[in-house]
This record gives sequence, C-alpha cells and structure tokens, in this order.
Amino acid sequence: MTIRSFDLLQPRSLAEAITLLVQHGEDARAIGGGTTLIILMKQRALQYRYLVDLQSIPGLNQISKEPEGVRIGALATHRSVELSPVIREALPVVAEAFSRVGNVRVRQTASVGGNLAHADYRLDPPPALLILGAEISAMGPNGARKIPLKDFFRGMYETALEPGELLVDVKIPSMPAKSKAVYLRYSAMSANDWPCLGVAAMVTRENGRCKELRLALGGVAATPVLVNGLTFVKDQLLDEDVMQQILAVVDEQISPFSDLRGSEWYKRQMTQVFIRRAIAQLDSQLIEG
Ligand SMILES: Cc1cc2nc3c(=O)[nH]c(=O)nc-3n(C[C@H](O)[C@H](O)[C@H](O)COP(=O)(O)OP(=O)(O)OC[C@H]3O[C@@H](n4cnc5c(N)ncnc54)[C@H](O)[C@@H]3O)c2cc1C
Repeated sequence: MTIRSFDLLQPRSLAEAITLLVQHGEDARAIGGGTTLIILMKQRALQYRYLVDLQSIPGLNQISKEPEGVRIGALATHRSVELSPVIREALPVVAEAFSRVGNVRVRQTASVGGNLAHADYRLDPPPALLILGAEISAMGPNGARKIPLKDFFRGMYETALEPGELLVDVKIPSMPAKSKAVYLRYSAMSANDWPCLGVAAMVTRENGRCKELRLALGGVAATPVLVNGLTFVKDQLLDEDVMQQILAVVDEQISPFSDLRGSEWYKRQMTQVFIRRAIAQLDSQLIEG
C-alpha cells in the first residue's frame, strides 16, 4: 500500500515541536526514526496530516556519561547505543539489549525514544533498563517532568506521556558495586525476529551470598514487567530451593497471552527456562570475579 500524503514539519527546538503537536492535536504525531510509524501509516492503521520530525532538533541524539550514570538522548539510534564505548564500558547489558533488536537496518534508524514510546509488549530494551532503575525525562505543554521507567508503560502501546508530551532522554544509573547483569532473549521463529520473550537479570553479591536480585521481563504481559517481592533472596545462596521460590514469584506476576510465537503455557515454561539460564550465567560470572 502507498502512504497517504502528509506534511513533514521540521521544528528546530523541543518547544517548537511541542507547540506544533498541541496546535495540530490528533492530526499530528511525532516521528523519530520512523521505522514503526511509517509502516503503520503505509498499512493505513494510522493516519496523520502532519508528522513532527524530531530529527530536525539539534542535540537530541547525545549519549553522555554523568557522575552517577549515563544519559541517552531520545534520538540516539539503537545502533549508536549498541556501539557506544561509554555504554559498553558502564552498562554492557544495555548495549546487549539494543544489539538484539530486529536487524542492523532497523537499529541504524530506530531511536531510543521511539522504541520506548511505541510501548510494544515485546520490546527488547525495556527489561534491561528496568533492572537498572532507568528514568525518563519528558517535556510537554505543562513543562518538564521525570517518569521512572517502571511507571512509564501503562498498557499495550500506551505510555504515561500526555498529548503533546515528548520523551527527551533516558537516565540510567550506574550498576551497583559487585553486581553483574545479563539480558537473554528467546526467539521462537527466526533469530532476528521479535522475541517470544526477554529476561533481564542483575545479581549483586556480598560475602559469597546474594545481596540483591532484580528481574525484568518482556513479552509475557501487556507491558514489560519489573518483578517485585524478591527481597527474600538477601543473604541466600541461589540454590534450587531459592530458585523454586523465585520462579513461583515470577509466575504470579506475569500474564502472557497466546500469539504467533507461543501459547500462554509455552511462554510460562520458557520464562522459567530463561530465568534459570540468566541466573546461572550471572552466578558463574560472579564466582569468576
Ligand atoms: C522489521 C522490524 C523489526 C523489529 N524488531 C524489533 C525487536 O526485535 N525488538 C524490539 O525491541 N523492537 C523491534 N522493532 C521495533 C523497533 O525497535 C521500533 O521500530 C523502533 O524502536 C521505533 O523507533 P523509531 O525511532 O523508528 O520510532 P517511530 O517509528 O518514529 O515512532 C514510533 C512511535 O513513537 C513515537 N515517538 C517517537 N519518538 C518519540 C519521542 N521522542 N517522544 C514521544 N513519542 C515518540 C511516535 O509518535 C510513534 O508513535 C522492530 C521494528 C521493525 C520495523
């Protein structure tokens, strides 16, 4: 199908972009890399008279190291995150998660802001960002505000952003001392297909025992899931008894639905397999130092 004609508006600042979005209301939509939006418009699932091009705003694609973490601008591409020396050094799990998205053509164009704002339930990056406690900076007609990523996803394709509000950047805190993190994704179809599910895990150790475990999952509910209620692992060895408790806690908090990539039952089973794999991988890395 061909795309219906639209006007591409090219603001030079965030304030101008927000003014345009407010002025044109439901006739306008922000566009980042366009990898999702243009497909949906070609399919006529969505239609806008105006697209507000965020790529015309200078400085939104920066990746910078800060005293307590890293800040990624909304227009940074997946590929630039994947290859960034700053991210690879400080937050390798984030580089890994972005490197798993689709294929290199998509990653070269798709933006971090577009990925999160799209809020598909299967996205690769959110689980890795959730275990690290990432926070979004947003700006809209009512000014600037911070939104913890754990409060950002409201439902399938639904976020906390208000009309006219834009995602400006994502701040990711540094990893805690003596911790390791991993992102594993499972593709039920081809290797670079959307994931059936994704698991991000972070373990912090103290005196040979677990000090903290954080888990987040994608693809197993309408939104990415940051698992609550894992404080019982403190001072434990991650043995089979504890593992069974972890799996039970996770199983209660997910609500997978059957789709092309697996039934609800299958996704629950594969979630358990991949949590075991992620924790085993982290355990061995921490033992090796
Ligand atoms: C073939 C293919 C395979 C893919 N596979 C995967 C995969 O395996 N894993 C995965 O995680 N993702 C996958 N994706 C999704 C990909 O990550 C998204 O297409 C991409 O992240 C969207 O980014 P974009 O910059 O192109 O957004 P756009 O298409 O420009 O926009 C997407 C949505 O976000 C909104 N938006 C964009 N930027 C902002 C902003 N700064 N503030 C507020 N709203 C904004 C737009 O209005 C629109 O609603 C795939 C996509 C394609 C096309």
